[in-house]
Amino acid sequence: MRPRLILRPGKEKPVRQRHPWVFEGAVQHVEGRPGSGDVVDVFSTDGRWLALAEFSPRSQIRARAFCWEPDRPADAGFWRERLAASIARRRQLLPGADACRLVFAESDGIPGLIVDHYGPHLVVQNLTAGAEARRKQTVAHLLELLSPASISERDDPVRQKEGLRQASGPLWGLPPAAPITVVEHGLRFQVDLNTGHKTGFYLDQTANRALVARFCGGVEVLNAFSYTGAFAVHALAAGAAHVTNIDTSAEALALAAANFALNGFDASRWTNLEADVFHQLRRWRDDGRQFDVIILDPPKFALSRDQVERAARGYKDINWLALRLLRPGGLLATFSCSGLVDRDLYQKIVFGAALDAGRDVRIVQHLSQGPDHPVLLTFPEGSYLKGLLCQVE
Ligand code: SAH
Repeated sequence: MRPRLILRPGKEKPVRQRHPWVFEGAVQHVEGRPGSGDVVDVFSTDGRWLALAEFSPRSQIRARAFCWEPDRPADAGFWRERLAASIARRRQLLPGADACRLVFAESDGIPGLIVDHYGPHLVVQNLTAGAEARRKQTVAHLLELLSPASISERDDPVRQKEGLRQASGPLWGLPPAAPITVVEHGLRFQVDLNTGHKTGFYLDQTANRALVARFCGGVEVLNAFSYTGAFAVHALAAGAAHVTNIDTSAEALALAAANFALNGFDASRWTNLEADVFHQLRRWRDDGRQFDVIILDPPKFALSRDQVERAARGYKDINWLALRLLRPGGLLATFSCSGLVDRDLYQKIVFGAALDAGRDVRIVQHLSQGPDHPVLLTFPEGSYLKGLLCQVE
């Protein structure tokens, strides 16, 4: 018999509403001895079957539910079908994309699994005990469904919370040792699949890069927290007079320089600054330096709930500074990828920044993660990237 998780009284509602996370505190007891990543049946206190889930013995999220039909076997065919469906959704939404996220974990009904595709190469992250247990099977299915040139794995700090060891390296074939070139909206980008951030590139910003570029023709652009300069490349392609990238990572800026060259942009049109954004924007405020468009795309400031307040201060600070550096009529594209800072809170933070900067600011568009990072309605936690495109008076 399959092991069972019996929930505490009153804790079954989220599971019945198809939320995939079963927290440690919701579990009354475990029947049987499930191993890490094993499939368990979830039951309510009064003995009603609720869902199939994967067991994570060391995580606060003790199990992740993935199937609410009692008679479905969670066998290889089941997961193959889920993978194929996830890939088919991307084909429908982003036909012909050279790089995109093919599987976005819980949001695609496959807990813990990230699959990003970069040309013929796939990069995978197994972020839960269940995904870890399915690792070999996942590789076999990806080979069958996509015939990639290589599959490699990248680590992520959340594996630690699951009690999983670090994992990076080739899973199949020979992943490219040097950066590869991928095409995004007709522009070319170097992506390092071995040492780049996340799986190599910020695929969640693809649509926003194209959108923000539309407003960059003929003007001076600041791309703060630039990483490899993807927003800047789009801006130059759209005719920006000059772009400045700021990042603390010399490696990221080196790839940004390579990306400018790869797309044929003259070196007179761009500047790379290896600097801390907080310090650099203050320096420019003191010098009276101004820009027409500023992009703020910082890393995740809030990694846990107790960091939200501090994160909010950080976000407010950079937004306040950016608003002071914008010329009248200028545009601010400001982002937060902290899932714990929701859209409302982020708008309030930017409101506070505008008030302190003494500028009238209008939101002209709400921005979010792209369609290859979908948000399942039963799992709002999948929504993490939010942005505001603002026009200052
Ligand atoms: N907009 C980018 C992604 C940005 S990721 C894109 O579209 O590809 C965030 C970046 O911020 C990382 O490259 C990281 O190196 C950089 N970073 C983190 N803290 C920083 C700081 N205080 N000052 C400057 N850059 C910072």
